[in-house]
This record gives sequence, C-alpha cells and structure tokens, in this order.
Amino acid sequence: MITCPYCATELVEQNGNAYCDFCDISFGPESEWGMWAEDGIRVPGKQMKGFITAEHAEKSVKELVKYHTYDLLVCLRLAREERTKAYDLLKTFNKAIDQGGIEFTEDAAAQGKVYEYWTKRCWVLENILMDRMGYFPERITDDMLIKMQERSLRAQLRRMAISRERRKAKNI
Ligand SMILES: [Zn+2]
Repeated sequence: MITCPYCATELVEQNGNAYCDFCDISFGPESEWGMWAEDGIRVPGKQMKGFITAEHAEKSVKELVKYHTYDLLVCLRLAREERTKAYDLLKTFNKAIDQGGIEFTEDAAAQGKVYEYWTKRCWVLENILMDRMGYFPERITDDMLIKMQERSLRAQLRRMAISRERRKAKNI
C-alpha cells in the first residue's frame, strides 16, 4: 500500500505520481515534496551524520541547512569551543603585550581574526537553528544531545496507522 508521508492517506499511483487530496500534494520522482511512502512510513527527514567534527561547522550556509538539527547542535557546540579557545589565546597575547611583549602584536592581531571567524560561525549555526526550532540553546549538554538523538530515531520509526478496529468496537 502506498501512503502519504504526511498524513498516511492511502494513495493511488497514476502516471508515476500519487496525489494526496487531504494534503493537496502530488508525490513522485519529480515532485518538490519527494516520493510517496509505503504503509504509513513518515517523511524521511534529514539524515543524521552521527560523526561531526569542527570541520563540519565550517561548511557554507547552503550545506548546513541540509544538516539534521542534531548535527547542527553538535556543530554549534564545537564552534563555541573553538571560539572559547581563540578568545583565551587572544587574552594571553594581549596580557603579554600589556607586560611589554610588543613582539606579540602580530600574533594578537591574527588571533583576533580567528576569534572573529569562530564568532561568526557560531552566529551562522545559531541562526539556522533559530529557523528550525524557533530558538537556539545557550548551553548544549551531552544529556540534551542523547535525548534528541533517541527521540528523533523513535519518531522516525513510529508508523502512522489509524486503528479502525478500536473505533468500531467503541461504536457497538
Ligand atoms: Zn496527505
């Protein structure tokens, strides 16, 4: 049985397309909404990469908008760590300069750029998350990430099936 990935209405394939009148969407290989589903399986959603490094956090906005929200949160956490590292190093150079180490001036300027770069990377990630979730978390904990991963996997596995049997029984 082929079904709508949004509402699970049973669909009929016609000339390579399947139209859901509940959602007013036509599914198929050419459709911007993607393919229809089988037996109440949900919209596939974005794939989790599972393994994220700081390099992922440096991808372009065009790439990052394709990421799973979980992966974006891991990217943001890594970008914030990089920003903190850059800031601490910048502080160290500035302190050295204050104590007469003028030879660190160039290092401080370079480090300032690194700090600025990671600050902007954080903003990019925060704003993509804003668009997804309506907010972005101030702190990203292991606990939050584990829960999100579990919920995401569980939601994906939960098929949509209307239990007609139970409704019939109630009507009797
Ligand atoms: Zn539908």
